[in-house]
Amino acid sequence: MNDNASSKRTISPGKKREDGRLAGLMRPQQLDDFTGQERLKANLTILIEAAKARQESLDHVLFHGPPGLGKTTLAHVVANEMNVNIRITAGPAIERTGDLAAILTNMRAGDILFIDEVHRLGRAVEEILYPAMEDFVLDIVVGKGPGAKNVRLKLPKFTVIGATTRLALLTAPLRARFGALYRMDFYEQAAIETIVTRGAGILRVPIEAAGATEIALRSRGTPRVALRLLRRVRDYAEVRATGEITEETAVAALDLLEIDNLGLDDLDRRVLRAIIEKFGGGPVGLDTIGASISEESDTIMDVVEPYLLQLGFLERTARGRIATPHAYAHLDVPLPQHHVPAKPNQPSLFAPSSEPDEDDE
Ligand code: ADP
Repeated sequence: MNDNASSKRTISPGKKREDGRLAGLMRPQQLDDFTGQERLKANLTILIEAAKARQESLDHVLFHGPPGLGKTTLAHVVANEMNVNIRITAGPAIERTGDLAAILTNMRAGDILFIDEVHRLGRAVEEILYPAMEDFVLDIVVGKGPGAKNVRLKLPKFTVIGATTRLALLTAPLRARFGALYRMDFYEQAAIETIVTRGAGILRVPIEAAGATEIALRSRGTPRVALRLLRRVRDYAEVRATGEITEETAVAALDLLEIDNLGLDDLDRRVLRAIIEKFGGGPVGLDTIGASISEESDTIMDVVEPYLLQLGFLERTARGRIATPHAYAHLDVPLPQHHVPAKPNQPSLFAPSSEPDEDDE
């Protein structure tokens, strides 16, 4: 994540250093401790049970969805449930084919290789990964020049768990090698409340049910945001009140952080205002919005947009993003007379299909 204003947001679901210290403690270890995502858990349980019963390694799994929803956590949970080792890496970290070869030749049967940001693997590295995932072989070139030889090494049957925030950026051959694809959605309010209450227990901070509700309401359905807000509210409660997280302290702390009652912060509001005030409500492309407020369009696409879409504040069309009447109402901006509702399914002469692609910029 870039080092601009957005990476300093309290509600940014991107990873921060501070998360690291507590991540181990906060992270659920078994599927039973993992709150929410019920359908995904049910499917994953079947996948795990079946592999265990057949004494086979798990099929390759891909988790996709916005950051902070628990993709990495689930990979650890799967490793625990399967009782195997997990090795963690990320697409941009595997720079050369040799890096991947070194990792793969150290895997044992059943082990899990977790690749975060799997859509960012380089082409050459991906090509080594295809036969490794499909046939458990590693094709390498030994030597240089005319004497170079292709050597095929056999690998143990390992499992790749990939995670991505951008399914549309995954190449078709890589996507095809994952036997199980799971989409992670924003969490329900009740699930986030449970996660906040559990987190407070781990931090040993007293919390009222209404305090947990208030934090959960402003956590945009994202566990990482919820746990971060919990820590900020705890600070506030300790410095300005008795230390207990009540509804009152939660509201006061979150208001001070300028996180509104729907979990929107300054960056979300700037994006919406830009669309409404600078581009007449849209349609406007993400890159243009990003340039107009000096933010990376990647940040807007990964972090801001999914939640605004979920709230129904934005619509994606083949021609760009449009602010909906709900967005105007939330910002207290009068709806212009000429506001035309978006028709996402209207065929466009300029788009290959009427349905905009997931990552259409
Ligand atoms: P992602 O890989 O999708 O970006 P992570 O797995 O790193 O997300 O999760 C972010 C944080 O939220 C971690 O601290 C993790 O412990 C916590 N978390 C995620 N999902 C859950 C959950 N279902 N229950 C409790 N905590 C969770």
